[in-house]
Amino acid sequence: MDRAVTRRQLLSTTILACTGAAALLASTRLARALSVEPMNSETQRVYLSACGTRDGSYHRQLIAEVRDKLQNTVTEAQIEAAIAATTCPVCGCPITAS
Ligand SMILES: [Zn+2]
Repeated sequence: MDRAVTRRQLLSTTILACTGAAALLASTRLARALSVEPMNSETQRVYLSACGTRDGSYHRQLIAEVRDKLQNTVTEAQIEAAIAATTCPVCGCPITAS
């Protein structure tokens, strides 16, 4: 009887250990797939002011930059199309979304 309990305990702890190892391996792999980089202060400021609070000031700045860059080179319709196709490098939303 003692031996049977021991075997069962051994088996269950082995299964637990394997499950734990698999979970650890999976989480390690996940951690390696994602890379976390600290925001520099400029990025953080932009994220908080434009994309965090949704007041859209950075998005308006991007729209102005696109407009400035294309002014006098293409038609107004093409400028509007370029603005509509541009996404925010910080939050990934279209810059017209704000
Ligand atoms: Zn944004």
